[in-house]
Amino acid sequence: MLKQSLLYLSQSPTAKRMVTGTPVSRQMARRFVAGDTLDEALAAARALNDAGLSVSLDYLGEAVESREEAEAATDMVIRILEALKRDGLDANVSVKPTQFGLDLDPDFCRRGIEMVLQRARELGDGEGEIFVRLDMESSDYTERTVALVESLWADGFQNTGTVLQSMLRRTPDDVERMIRLGARVRLVKGAYLEPETVAYPDKADTDRMFVEEMERLLDAGKYPAIATHDEAIIDHARRYVWEKGIAKESFEFQMLYGVRRDLQTRLREEGYNVRVYVPFGESWYPYLMRRLAERPANMMFMAGSIAKESGIGGLGRPLAIGGGMVAGALAALAWRRRR
Ligand SMILES: Cc1cc2nc3c(=O)[nH]c(=O)nc-3n(C[C@H](O)[C@H](O)[C@H](O)COP(=O)(O)OP(=O)(O)OC[C@H]3O[C@@H](n4cnc5c(N)ncnc54)[C@H](O)[C@@H]3O)c2cc1C
Repeated sequence: MLKQSLLYLSQSPTAKRMVTGTPVSRQMARRFVAGDTLDEALAAARALNDAGLSVSLDYLGEAVESREEAEAATDMVIRILEALKRDGLDANVSVKPTQFGLDLDPDFCRRGIEMVLQRARELGDGEGEIFVRLDMESSDYTERTVALVESLWADGFQNTGTVLQSMLRRTPDDVERMIRLGARVRLVKGAYLEPETVAYPDKADTDRMFVEEMERLLDAGKYPAIATHDEAIIDHARRYVWEKGIAKESFEFQMLYGVRRDLQTRLREEGYNVRVYVPFGESWYPYLMRRLAERPANMMFMAGSIAKESGIGGLGRPLAIGGGMVAGALAALAWRRRR
């Protein structure tokens, strides 16, 4: 319930204005976001590389409303690629199709992504192309994203792959599509609010499907990424590859910047490839809300502080006690601001 409310608020402009205006949420964002600028992101990537961890950089932004915004995102992603090459970092890039204007015009979006893939190819310079992954957004975009990867591959852009979400009922078919294509898949549980018609309402089903799809990708996929902080699933993966004799070099674990650094390091020390997803940029609001939805304890702390800063401190205590009230308080704040 709280998770659903937070995911709903992640799309609310009023809640966005309220949350981004408070120092405590900026502080909270800093836990999950490497900084506002590319230089800060590169410094974070360097530090992770020094600890033996690979990186995927994500310039935050989604659902752009103008071509200018999409073009600015394209320019920035190309700057990231050039900086990765210049600095010799062990890193690739993740992008969101709606950041390139998928909602505005699919052809325009595709042209932007092609420009990025082309530049990533040139910069590979015989040492292997830089890989650019299309992140997966809500189920409204799943078919378009999977089909986009297929069509880019058909046109020779094979330095791209995507993300599949085990919470979606359609994912086993998408896993087979990506295996047939030979494209890399990052398997995740899914971070968006979805209707029961397309997604499992029960988390146990999402977890069960994650394990099934993970095994299939480990058996037949191209360098799959197992992207989770769920230790039970990670242990299952470790046992599975050991029993099946699957080489550690043939897949990677992925985790988010700011989440379970201890586990990232431990897996690396055990000889697994580990990549950390490092977001940066000023458009951190929806990203932060999705991270809070994954772990309500973070949210309770933040909502209590926002309530205090907004002058309705009386709400602070109930917020700290009742998780379900937190999102309600934010909605109340959003309503207060509208008046
Ligand atoms: C590298 C990477 C890329 C991703 N890309 C996408 C994408 O493109 N599209 C998409 O829909 N989703 C994406 N996600 C998010 C994913 O869908 C999940 O929402 C997220 O990973 C949390 O689920 P979990 O697998 O860690 O398992 P959960 O069962 O949610 O969590 C397991 C444990 O991990 C810890 N944990 C999980 N999340 C947090 C957090 N935010 N803060 C603190 N602790 C936490 C907790 O200890 C929790 O008990 C990505 C995740 C990763 C790791």
